[in-house]
Amino acid sequence: MGDVDAIKDYVFESSRLPQIRGASALLMQCEAEIRRRIREVDGLLLVARGGFLLAEVPASQVPSLVQEIHQIFASRTITATMTLAWEDPPGALPPPPSPIADGWAGRLIRAAPPSDPFPRRVAFLAARLRAAKESRTTIPTLETLPFARKCAICARRNASEPLYLPGGPLPVCPICWKRHDAGREARSGIRRMWRLWHPGFPGEPPQDLEQLVEGDPHGRLAFIYADGNDIGRHLMALSDPQAYQAFSRKIHRGVRRAVFEALGIALKGWHGNFWPFELINIGGDDITLLIQARYALPFALAFLERFHRHTSFTASCAIVIADHKYPIRYFEALAADLLQGAKERAKSGPGPDSALHFLWLPEPVAGEEADLFLQRYQSEEGGRHLRRTARPYRLTQARLLYELALELRDRVSRSQRQQWAEALTRGVLPSVQFIQYQIARAPEGDRPALWKLLEQARDLCGFTGANHLLFWVEEPGRAAWVTALMDLLEWAELLEAA
Ligand SMILES: [Zn+2]
Repeated sequence: MGDVDAIKDYVFESSRLPQIRGASALLMQCEAEIRRRIREVDGLLLVARGGFLLAEVPASQVPSLVQEIHQIFASRTITATMTLAWEDPPGALPPPPSPIADGWAGRLIRAAPPSDPFPRRVAFLAARLRAAKESRTTIPTLETLPFARKCAICARRNASEPLYLPGGPLPVCPICWKRHDAGREARSGIRRMWRLWHPGFPGEPPQDLEQLVEGDPHGRLAFIYADGNDIGRHLMALSDPQAYQAFSRKIHRGVRRAVFEALGIALKGWHGNFWPFELINIGGDDITLLIQARYALPFALAFLERFHRHTSFTASCAIVIADHKYPIRYFEALAADLLQGAKERAKSGPGPDSALHFLWLPEPVAGEEADLFLQRYQSEEGGRHLRRTARPYRLTQARLLYELALELRDRVSRSQRQQWAEALTRGVLPSVQFIQYQIARAPEGDRPALWKLLEQARDLCGFTGANHLLFWVEEPGRAAWVTALMDLLEWAELLEAA
């Protein structure tokens, strides 16, 4: 069992698109090479995706294979490493579990130790992997001399070679050089697959984030993270290696299909010079995607629906929207944080459902905890708590959210919507009075649709039959009022350019 260490630090160290794309491509090349080596020693590959490896190989091959895997990462990435654990000897008791890693390794570590022989082996290995990670002391780095010139990309390591760019050569470190080199090549596997799925799609891959957001009047970028719900528990219930292999393949194919179909749906009729998205990673059951903000919601809805159709699992999705110059590591950290909220929402409610969480940062404020930003939607008013957001949403609600946001965009002018948003911050009664007055002044033909829209906005809050006032709903059992109208106003604005 293997797991790439600090994978996000490696992929998102720089906010430059070729660096991100290159890091992801290099890791995928490492995985492809590992897959090939395991086949060569007549091993059984259970999974090798998204930085996670599980395989059965002849015991005599383990020492050389471990050496080779370390060598594969060192030669391709210099700095990325994979921690490995293997059965030697089988049967020793694993230490008590504590959650440390992300991805499939993390989920396996967190899952309860099962009693069947194969799942017990997997749990044992996961525990060993964790122990190996905790005792890991040497991280490959390059020597940094105090007066040496720093790399123009990462600004952390010493520059050692020039990178030739259209604007002139830049001094860079070998790690950034390799990432850039891999990222600028148009032969990345994911892009080749996209061309196969959508052969007539116009334009070409963007070379940087400016090109990616070209055509969006505000240059807003969405970072999307999504993954399957309950996959870890299911992995732990698989009774033999073959079942594990078949399951991991089925999920990966389902995810891949879901993401390409969803992009096709969200970008139907799109035309421009540069693709308005970059698919950074399709892992075991997760995806990381950059896309112009206006396509984020239609993509997410289509993806969640297709994910369920092709894998029969529900999924969770997080969207973070900010200016494309916002540091990508904040995008990533906030999305990872929101995803946990989406997962909780997916579990709440009558049955399992997919769920969606989102955060829009109109001002690029640094932060890694989504709650700090979501608190801005809350206030106190005369002894009651006001919440001007109803997110995260279950998929059924998220669809309604999208439909209503489109309607709001088409029926209410942008300047009026801004006034509505301001009114919402003034409290329950002032906002109701203001918006009532605005609707009364709207063209007669529009009024019934607007009243209906506000009524439907109540359904987004998820408390049916509760006390309400136009678009505000009282949370049963506590002195709190909630409205989804701000969420609708935000998406109406984000969808303006679509
Ligand atoms: Zn560098």
